Amino acid sequence: MPESRTTDVLIAGQGAAAFAAALYTARYQINALIVGDRFGGETAIGGGIENYPGYPEIDGFDLMLKFREQVEKYDVPIVDAALTAVEDAGDCFNSTLSDGSTVRSGALIFAIGRERRKLNLPHEEEWTGRGVSYCSTCDAPLYRQKVAAVVGGGSAAVEGAILLGKYTTETYLIYRQDRFTRPEPVLVELLNQSKNVHVLFETEVTELVGDSLAGLEGIKISKPYEGRTELKLDGIFIEIGADPRIEIPQSLGVDLNPETNEVHVDRTMRTNVPGIFAAGDLTDGSGTLKQTITAASQGAVAALAAYQYVSENHKRCWQHEMGFDVEEGAAD
Ligand SMILES: Cc1cc2nc3c(=O)[nH]c(=O)nc-3n(C[C@H](O)[C@H](O)[C@H](O)COP(=O)(O)OP(=O)(O)OC[C@H]3O[C@@H](n4cnc5c(N)ncnc54)[C@H](O)[C@@H]3O)c2cc1C
Repeated sequence: MPESRTTDVLIAGQGAAAFAAALYTARYQINALIVGDRFGGETAIGGGIENYPGYPEIDGFDLMLKFREQVEKYDVPIVDAALTAVEDAGDCFNSTLSDGSTVRSGALIFAIGRERRKLNLPHEEEWTGRGVSYCSTCDAPLYRQKVAAVVGGGSAAVEGAILLGKYTTETYLIYRQDRFTRPEPVLVELLNQSKNVHVLFETEVTELVGDSLAGLEGIKISKPYEGRTELKLDGIFIEIGADPRIEIPQSLGVDLNPETNEVHVDRTMRTNVPGIFAAGDLTDGSGTLKQTITAASQGAVAALAAYQYVSENHKRCWQHEMGFDVEEGAAD
């Protein structure tokens, strides 16, 4: 029989926003449960962090361990699973997890971040981790004295190419537009100073080349570079952005920001649906600045809003669980 739990607040995610939300809900003394399928979120795989206050330099994984340890001090249960579906039952939210268990909660905080965009080329998934990567900050050191390519033209792609340029013998930055418009000028200047980084404008990757044993060995490109339409590579880094994970919030009627497709929140991290809050990279709460600190701060703000909501409405969900009459005013 799959386990069934009841809590005041279900916090979905295991990144900076989720742990911060859990810390604050614990300190407000409401019951919370964290449900997340990958410990630490993007911070944990992002490599070194130099802009989280209080830590001049720390590995992202270690920073997330500290987040989790602080939450564990308050005995907030952490379930290593994904949220697969949520039903709004009026008095409670009924959530189903990937391990088959269910959770009833009076409120929800979505802190489930964003999904990296893919090129959707054959073998991309098969060779992920074997030459195909989505995180240059994480994997660049593995390409010392090797040849790599970065795909994209935003800040992440340019930063990735600069970083890879420090390790590789050659790095190609492949961008389908004819110039950079999104990265800060200072980044483009640094890129131009990277002697072994070659920028290929108006070029797309048309094929990943390799085999099932070796993984990725090269790519085919849409426009010849120095007479070649095939480049031999040890690795390719796909840095073409990320999409907020909106599927479950949307299924509950949560409004999105029409321009960014992110979950729309007010300044207390409330969505338009009573009892549903959101925090971190999933939301439009901090504009284009998506960082560990903004995610953590939104998690804290969401926890306060959830606490206030649960304080006003908490009896309904618990009463139902305990078999009481949940009609207005009953069992008060
Ligand atoms: C390569 C890279 C380098 C970065 N470097 C820095 C840096 O130096 N400094 C900085 O401040 N920021 C950096 N960032 C940004 C920072 O990592 C993010 O802003 C931050 O991780 C956002 O936190 P979050 O909690 O909103 O989302 P995430 O960290 O993405 O966490 C989302 C969590 O939700 C979980 N999840 C997803 N779907 C479900 C589901 N259905 N059910 C349950 N859980 C689910 C995920 O497994 C994950 O645990 C970097 C990001 C990247 C990609």
